[in-house]
Amino acid sequence: MSPIELNKRQNEILDIVKGNGPITGEQIAERLSLTRSTLRPDLAILTMAGFLDARPRVGYFYSGKKTSQAISDNIAQMMVKDFQSIPVVVDESMMVYDAICHMFLEDVGSLFVLDKNSLLSGVLSRKDFLRTSIGNQDLNKIPVHMIMTRMPNITYCLKEDTLIEVAKKLMSRQIDSLPVVKEGKDGLEVIGRITKTNITRAFLSLSDDHDL
Ligand code: ADP
Repeated sequence: MSPIELNKRQNEILDIVKGNGPITGEQIAERLSLTRSTLRPDLAILTMAGFLDARPRVGYFYSGKKTSQAISDNIAQMMVKDFQSIPVVVDESMMVYDAICHMFLEDVGSLFVLDKNSLLSGVLSRKDFLRTSIGNQDLNKIPVHMIMTRMPNITYCLKEDTLIEVAKKLMSRQIDSLPVVKEGKDGLEVIGRITKTNITRAFLSLSDDHDL
């Protein structure tokens, strides 16, 4: 979806109509010291793009209908910090059996693993647990650090990142969630969690904001 770039005059017209609508083409032209025919192409663009509505014998008014421009602006401004969830973390030394119970109890699809300095060291997903469970091993004797995906192979994001950046990472790495971290000199502090569910919630909020 390519956003429509309005030129200076089209923006002026929009401001006039927002403040004074309904207003006729002649009246808009008068305010801009232009002729009606000079304005005709701009009014046509603004009407076709959904910024303005025109009614015969009434004039132009701001449609209030959210346009593709408004929706794309809205998407571009969605930030991790506005949609993130609370992270669920476990210690590296926790046994796989206990971590599986923890995942069930917390009702999440991934756990973040912290080292003894409380910095991010790994990620555990449902598939990691399934893989370990179908082997003939005692889950009470395997610590999670043996089976987790570990640093530096963890994909993460910052709270100031956009949801679009997160969505691209989730899709390209084929994963379900990212830890939201604060970068320090010794490592990464986990401050949040962003998942496909958060992205879906953001997507739905667009439909509320734009009457879709
Ligand atoms: P599921 O196991 O439910 O399909 P994922 O697709 O998220 O969940 O996980 C697939 C694999 O990717 C697992 O081995 C997991 O440890 C790893 N993984 C999950 N999240 C991340 C991440 N943010 N960075 C790196 N690896 C990850």
